[in-house]
Amino acid sequence: MKSANDILKQLREQGSRMTKTRNFIVAVFQNNNLPLAELEIRERLAKQGIKVNKTTVYRELEHLKSKNIIKDVDFGDGKKRYELNGDDHHHHLICTNCKKVEEVHVEDDVSHIEQKINQRKNFKIINHSLEFFGLCRNCK
Ligand SMILES: [Zn+2]
Ligand SMILES: [Zn+2]
Repeated sequence: MKSANDILKQLREQGSRMTKTRNFIVAVFQNNNLPLAELEIRERLAKQGIKVNKTTVYRELEHLKSKNIIKDVDFGDGKKRYELNGDDHHHHLICTNCKKVEEVHVEDDVSHIEQKINQRKNFKIINHSLEFFGLCRNCK
């Protein structure tokens, strides 16, 4: 995972102004390794006594996204979620019953599938996003 300093450095190098709100939002992502929705981010900020409205949070999220600090995560439920765009490549396991989310790292990942796609479709894959849906330990 990228350190807070690395992220701030990356932002500065890209000419991003580090406002107080921006700093706090980056910290929220740093202190949480699972994808967060806008409301969850606002709740975490509120716990620290920081009041920010929805529009501001969305604007900050768009900004951090444009600087490649965070990325979208789609669990197919219509809710927008975000997580740090780190070097740490992983997927998510989402329990369809209790909605628990877990990170999973897969050894050789899906490079063989990417190779096949590359050959069949002449499409150069740069990245992929893959989430697994099912029942967790407690729910199955
Ligand atoms: Zn469950
Ligand atoms: Zn992968």
